[in-house]
Amino acid sequence: MTVLGAGLVGVATAWLLLNRGYPVCLIDPAGAGEQAAEAGTRAALGLLMAQVYRRSSGRGWRLRQRSLQLWQQWSDQLAQQGSALPFRPGLLQLASEPQELEQQQRLVQERSAKGFPLRSLSQEELVQLRPQVPEGALGGLLSPLDGQLDPIASRQLLLQDALSRGLELVSDRAEAIAASSGADRWQVQLASGPRLQTPWLLVCAGLASAALLEPLGHQRPLAPVLGQALELQLPAGCDAELWPGSVLWQGINLVPRPGRRLWLGATLEPDLVAGAPGDPAALEALRQLQGHAPDWLLAATPLRQWQGLRARPVGRPAPLLEALEPRLLLLSGHYRNGVLLAPASAEWAADQIAAGP
Ligand SMILES: Cc1cc2nc3c(=O)[nH]c(=O)nc-3n(C[C@H](O)[C@H](O)[C@H](O)COP(=O)(O)OP(=O)(O)OC[C@H]3O[C@@H](n4cnc5c(N)ncnc54)[C@H](O)[C@@H]3O)c2cc1C
Repeated sequence: MTVLGAGLVGVATAWLLLNRGYPVCLIDPAGAGEQAAEAGTRAALGLLMAQVYRRSSGRGWRLRQRSLQLWQQWSDQLAQQGSALPFRPGLLQLASEPQELEQQQRLVQERSAKGFPLRSLSQEELVQLRPQVPEGALGGLLSPLDGQLDPIASRQLLLQDALSRGLELVSDRAEAIAASSGADRWQVQLASGPRLQTPWLLVCAGLASAALLEPLGHQRPLAPVLGQALELQLPAGCDAELWPGSVLWQGINLVPRPGRRLWLGATLEPDLVAGAPGDPAALEALRQLQGHAPDWLLAATPLRQWQGLRARPVGRPAPLLEALEPRLLLLSGHYRNGVLLAPASAEWAADQIAAGP
């Protein structure tokens, strides 16, 4: 099996295939090192939003629930081997409008009836939280089983475990892919010259997947959607790890980090014109929580800022999990949820391979 792209989706897929006993070759120009700065996994905040998902049926719902289960299973498996996946449970969505509060309360009722442990937090309960959450929150929805997974550390952990299980890691770029004559193998042309043959080819190259597939007649355009994020050092005596989880407020994610740090990121930003820099005004609005930042947040010191690209499928729902031709699988276009959906995507691919071309 050959996997193109060692973002979290490609690494998770390679790891699962090795666990199922297949030999795997993983190709990425970054090799075992850091991904390029704009790669989705390197920029992601790592929120796992499965049980708070608004819909209760359909493919998106099923993939999210399955992925959350798998992250738990993989975490248990890795813990038995002495490595822990860096997962912090808990998501607290704040409501700033009465309509949002009503929606949250309906969701709590609906999910509780099905046995999901969501619960509503009153305004009085929110006021007790330290550090203070933004003023004006009318109530909140707490999901104890959703949470946040450190994407870079998780990718690294799975990659190291895969290497210890015999993963062949090739530090190179796939320039082109083609069917071999006889059609039971795929060929990968590497930038450094060699041409590899493989029975199954899995394209997990994020945004670059579209250009690899186009010469084969598969049009799967992907729009790059910019995401910006900030890391802040919080003032003394102010530790966001005391919150019951990561906090979501008006489309902004506040992620507690060890050492009195906080990550801030917006969930939605416009499509990026290729090569355009991030918008400094958007970054400042993020830091100010669009005018709602409590004093402790305004007193925090910015440590670093970064940006990355999310691959949003054009005209198709995210993610793209498709058997395009016999033995050719596409796993890309995970847009805003690739960290959450990496395990379910990997399982989909492993099941396709087990079922045969
Ligand atoms: C700011 C930001 C915040 C986010 N927050 C969250 C979040 O909270 N929760 C969540 O679930 N998701 C989040 N996401 C989305 C998530 O990051 C992505 O969906 C996910 O990382 C996609 O992973 P991937 O492996 O498909 O792609 P990537 O991580 O982009 O990896 C693609 C890999 O393919 C390699 N590649 C490219 N071309 C080739 C080639 N020709 N040959 C070989 N290899 C190649 C690249 O080097 C790269 O390593 C966020 C994204 C951003 C930008």
